[in-house]
Amino acid sequence: MSRCLSERSIDHVGLERGEVANSWRRERWDSLRLLTPNWQSRLPGYRYEGADPDGFMTVAEVVDFVAHYAVVTDAPVRTHTTVTSVRQTDQGYHVATDTGDLRCRSVVIASGACNLPNVPPLRQGVPASIQCVTPLDYRNPDQLPDGGVLVVGASATGVQLADEIHRSGRPVTLSVGEHVRLPRTYRGRDVLWWMDASGIWNQRYDEIDDLTRARGLPSPQLVGTPERTTLDLNALGAAGVEIVGRLAAVRDGRALFSGGLRNQFALADLKMNRLLDTFDDWAREHAHDVDTAPPERFEPTRAPASSRLHLDLGSGEIRSIIWATGFRPDYSWLDVPVLDHKGRLRHDGGVVDAPGLYAIGLPVLRRRKSTFIHGAEDDARDLVDHLARYLDGSAGEPQSAR
Ligand SMILES: Cc1cc2nc3c(=O)[nH]c(=O)nc-3n(C[C@H](O)[C@H](O)[C@H](O)COP(=O)(O)OP(=O)(O)OC[C@H]3O[C@@H](n4cnc5c(N)ncnc54)[C@H](O)[C@@H]3O)c2cc1C
Repeated sequence: MSRCLSERSIDHVGLERGEVANSWRRERWDSLRLLTPNWQSRLPGYRYEGADPDGFMTVAEVVDFVAHYAVVTDAPVRTHTTVTSVRQTDQGYHVATDTGDLRCRSVVIASGACNLPNVPPLRQGVPASIQCVTPLDYRNPDQLPDGGVLVVGASATGVQLADEIHRSGRPVTLSVGEHVRLPRTYRGRDVLWWMDASGIWNQRYDEIDDLTRARGLPSPQLVGTPERTTLDLNALGAAGVEIVGRLAAVRDGRALFSGGLRNQFALADLKMNRLLDTFDDWAREHAHDVDTAPPERFEPTRAPASSRLHLDLGSGEIRSIIWATGFRPDYSWLDVPVLDHKGRLRHDGGVVDAPGLYAIGLPVLRRRKSTFIHGAEDDARDLVDHLARYLDGSAGEPQSAR
């Protein structure tokens, strides 16, 4: 956003509570790599140019990538400056920070989509003897007590942590709800190449039938490894991870899991196969059948012969729980009435429901790819366009982002 504002000579400042790339410095586990390949790591006027375009960046490499971008774009960032309040004034906004206040005509909320762990209220019922860890606190298995681990949630974070913790020698039980299954590679290419090439990631927010659902979809079961491993439930089950259903309740010290794993699996397999059909159709129509391997289909997700429906959390079998149940943004500092009853920002493609207020970096903000680093560029250009018109008085009413 800053780079695009600079291109239009719009005077601005970025406020960052930590260092540039703070979330990648402070809130990620040690072994994490991007699940998006290097060729896809790009920001306006800047892209990965190393020797391994098909590889996946480590956290340290992401920090370098973003920090270097701030230097080459000469981004006017004030670090170690926490925004404590933003409120509307007659002329625009009053921004309070722990290092002083600012006044401005427009504010872009770029504070991230994953500031807080989305831990379900049923966590209250977990006995105090069990260590509860969220992905924002998790660094590596050494911080967990010896003994069994329950990982709740089987999206990208859950499957990656279940795998790593299982490899540390601890018995892992993985509780699986709705999930998005994807193979790492399809027809000889990275599955995200297919998402990109077939145009799915470019799909606009105003062309998506159920936008609320699209914005709430769990992340795909993907991991970025040099071996290009597919990390699905079949792989985890074969390695010895115990798969159970969705955690439905914790009652009297017992975790209760939903039945119906078979249906859950069938649905995820069906959706994956539909997506692969879309890729195949696209390849046929665009003459890519010649430069890709033939279509393939994967073994359906194997349901365990019988899955446990409850687990006694007081028995000592489980010593820690990882809440891999998603993330949400933190708007506790935003004193503008633009949140809906669920605490979500009311916006139309990043044009927030208050004049001169914008947001970037939220899932499916303007396109399916908005969720990812490479999605920022197109969104930023669109939003700066709107913002420039707002500043010169020609943007019209808020909510007219298209
Ligand atoms: C576990 C995990 C894995 C991911 N893997 C990938 C991946 O493989 N590929 C990919 O493209 N994307 C991935 N993402 C998404 C990724 O985080 C985003 O694409 C990218 O980091 C978003 O950048 P951002 O600047 O919008 O938000 P963030 O990186 O969250 O940055 C927001 C910044 O705002 C600062 N901030 C927040 N509140 C305040 C405040 N009140 N005052 C001042 N500063 C504040 C924070 O310190 C932070 O530096 C992943 C996310 C998570 C959580």
